[in-house]
Amino acid sequence: MTVSAFMLEAPCARIDPEIMFPAPAADWETEFAKSVCERCPFESRCLEYALAPATRVEDGVMGGLTDAERKALVKERRLGRALAYNGGPIPKTRRSRSQAAHPQRGPLAPVT
Ligand code: SF4
Repeated sequence: MTVSAFMLEAPCARIDPEIMFPAPAADWETEFAKSVCERCPFESRCLEYALAPATRVEDGVMGGLTDAERKALVKERRLGRALAYNGGPIPKTRRSRSQAAHPQRGPLAPVT
């Protein structure tokens, strides 16, 4: 993990680094690490840092979230972007097998 300048001033820089990397099944350790992040002035910046593809962090608590929670957030954002790109939720459509196999043939007929 590359260290960014804000991390040197963050609360986690002044504690044992192991605290921010709790054992997977140790809920109280995870909650303690999250409580450190709650007091951090860089929490949202840290979260974006941990989510960015170039600086992705796949372990420990960062930005107040565990790795599993960060992965879920990435998926949620991707889905949100996909829905926004397509103009909203996917409408119910009648799809023939041919249309499903060849979506490039044109728009699907909406269910009436
Ligand atoms: S949000 Fe948490 S992990 Fe990130 S810099 Fe702050 S204390 Fe450290």
